[in-house]
Amino acid sequence: MTSTDKLRRLEELKARYAAERDKRLREDGNSQYLGFEEIATKFDRDPYIEEEIERDPVEEECEVVIIGAGMGGMMTGARLIQRGIKDFRIIEKAGDFGGTWYWNRYPGAACDVESYCYMPFLEETGYMPTEKYAKAPEIFAHCQRVGRHFGLYERALFQTLVSELRWLDDEDRWLVTTNRGDRLKARFVTIAGGIMHKAKLPGIPGIETFGGESFHTTRWDYDYTGGGPSKRMVGLKDKKVAIIGTGATAIQAVPRLAEDAGHLYVVQRTPSAVGPRDNRPTDPEWYQSLEPGWQRKRMQDFTRMMSSEEVERDEIQDGWTAIFKAIPHAYSATGEEQQLADMEQMDIIRARVDKVIEDEATAEGLKPWYNMMCKRPCFHDEYLQAFNRDNVTLVDTKGLGVESIDETGLTVEGRHYDVDCIIYSTGFEISTFYVRRLGFEIYGRDGVSMTEDWSGPNGPHTVHGIHSKGFPNLLMFSLVQGGQTVNFVHVLTELAIHAAEIVKTCREENIKVIEATEQGEADWWQVIMKYLMVSAEFRANCTPSYMNAEGKPDPSMIKIATYNGSMTSFGQILEDWRAEGSMEGLEKQKAPENA
Ligand code: NDP
Repeated sequence: MTSTDKLRRLEELKARYAAERDKRLREDGNSQYLGFEEIATKFDRDPYIEEEIERDPVEEECEVVIIGAGMGGMMTGARLIQRGIKDFRIIEKAGDFGGTWYWNRYPGAACDVESYCYMPFLEETGYMPTEKYAKAPEIFAHCQRVGRHFGLYERALFQTLVSELRWLDDEDRWLVTTNRGDRLKARFVTIAGGIMHKAKLPGIPGIETFGGESFHTTRWDYDYTGGGPSKRMVGLKDKKVAIIGTGATAIQAVPRLAEDAGHLYVVQRTPSAVGPRDNRPTDPEWYQSLEPGWQRKRMQDFTRMMSSEEVERDEIQDGWTAIFKAIPHAYSATGEEQQLADMEQMDIIRARVDKVIEDEATAEGLKPWYNMMCKRPCFHDEYLQAFNRDNVTLVDTKGLGVESIDETGLTVEGRHYDVDCIIYSTGFEISTFYVRRLGFEIYGRDGVSMTEDWSGPNGPHTVHGIHSKGFPNLLMFSLVQGGQTVNFVHVLTELAIHAAEIVKTCREENIKVIEATEQGEADWWQVIMKYLMVSAEFRANCTPSYMNAEGKPDPSMIKIATYNGSMTSFGQILEDWRAEGSMEGLEKQKAPENA
């Protein structure tokens, strides 16, 4: 193809992308989704509980309360222990460590980021992942291993929901209360509540009337389906099953459902871009040859590549690194050269669909029409193949979604599909209000709630996404003005080290209160603004999804923006801040010498 032909094709493609985007765009944006509690509490039961924990309420004082026992909370606990700080508690809704990996036990669940970069503390625990891309049960077991290794179990309060956080002005401490009557007073609170933990259901008319079985992928009902994460779901043999959604979760679940369901309807609104996975077992000889300190370097290298930064050598060599090599700065690929590179990569994805799928109409339906990083790219060697089975039907809603649900099934384009079971693979809230996603209120200085404070004219205000004025000694791990990257465990690694270092410094320097200043927050917002516009144009042209606030960004919500510079630079900012030593942007209050 000549360069003129390529440019002509690019223009045609852009028009096609815009048309597909417009079909999918909805007036109701984020409000098209509902939380479990807004439809029926049955959706939020914990199907994995083996035993209800019975215990008396805990009333005590400690240095730190960590909220959340997922990767962020676990790592913070481990980093505190490494610094000799043992006086902390971890509070968690689930029955064990793991967070995402506790809840997401859907069949086929795995991590699409290489296990050697993703699974934390591999060197410390001496564990070798069995495969390049570990499956969910292995990652969950590793979380339990980390919990045991660092002695975190004895500090954890599982099956416990925080009711509220309240800053005690007279005592300079947080009071954490829970649904089990616990009252914990702590100098510091770290909220590692997850970034994708509040599941969302589509507000499809009639959703509450369905008479069959239904659940969300993050609460898989194996009592109904039979089997387990890696066991055949014998209960589905004669069942007609619909799975709604075709994001990263469904891509992994569909091949397993296709094997086991009597009939599977895959209900699609926007197709994912699905490249090859090429998973393989770990070579023990190679693994043992790795030099001490290898994991942090590998993690950093992966993240560097996700920001199109130079590395000595791509040791990871997978679909992710290939994308970022082919499309420099793929998250903001608006220049002509980048657009041409993006076109080539998406053409490869579309050609793969043609190559794999036997039925022409199905192949057309499965082709994605948007830029690569508009959605999270997926990698799988069995997803597309599943559509060649006689018992699998693609129900393509062509960007419009399911029309309605009734007692016996669902309707798409005027056609009713009778089903026994509906599985919602419809994702998680990410750009809704922080406190809503946390599920509990935070009352800061003078009893002012974070809901009230952050709804004011300034919106959310933070230093590094971690500290907020009015909420002293609170350390938040969140996307609100915080760092992000493909391997979120890397962000959490940096945050956990940072939080533990802050607590340690305060202890050593006899500092009892730290609190963001207005100036510190204004300075951080300037840093965020610097990068915000770079990706805004790219995202505005993307097909709607959680990555661009469903294509309907609310200007009043601009302050929930993440830090869009590279994650390596975010990590560096935190490291430099610590090295500088004055806790810039925070006000410090020392305890009296004899306190
Ligand atoms: P997503 O938000 O990515 O996908 C939700 C799906 O539901 C989309 O396909 C969406 O369509 C569809 N949907 C929503 N409403 C309707 C409706 N009314 N009718 C029809 N379809 C509808 O959620 P996932 O759980 O798949 O993934 C969320 C994130 O979790 C990923 O992006 C990733 O960050 C993480 N994840 C990571 C994994 C890993 O390996 N590291 C694995 C799995 C998930 P549309 O696209 O049109 O909005």
